[in-house]
Amino acid sequence: MCQGCETAPATEVDHITPIGKGGAPRDRANLQSLCKPCHVSKTHADKARRTWTPPKYRGCDEQGNPRNPSHPWAVQSPDRPFLDRLGPTKKS
Ligand SMILES: [Zn+2]
Repeated sequence: MCQGCETAPATEVDHITPIGKGGAPRDRANLQSLCKPCHVSKTHADKARRTWTPPKYRGCDEQGNPRNPSHPWAVQSPDRPFLDRLGPTKKS
């Protein structure tokens, strides 16, 4: 299974830290399995020196919580829906 989008079968192995940037070529901790589209987009991000956000971490879920576990909103309160954290908006 692709570790980037978790929806497509993984067909390629990616170096998380590119070898050209000093990543270990054979260290399993530096390897992840990706599908072709994810691998292509990550390689483009690496070349542009951007941080690649895997599709599974983009946007938010049905409750409005960010999918990215390192997002500040997710870190602050992982078990409360984001919308609750906005506080009371209207008194009814
Ligand atoms: Zn993928």
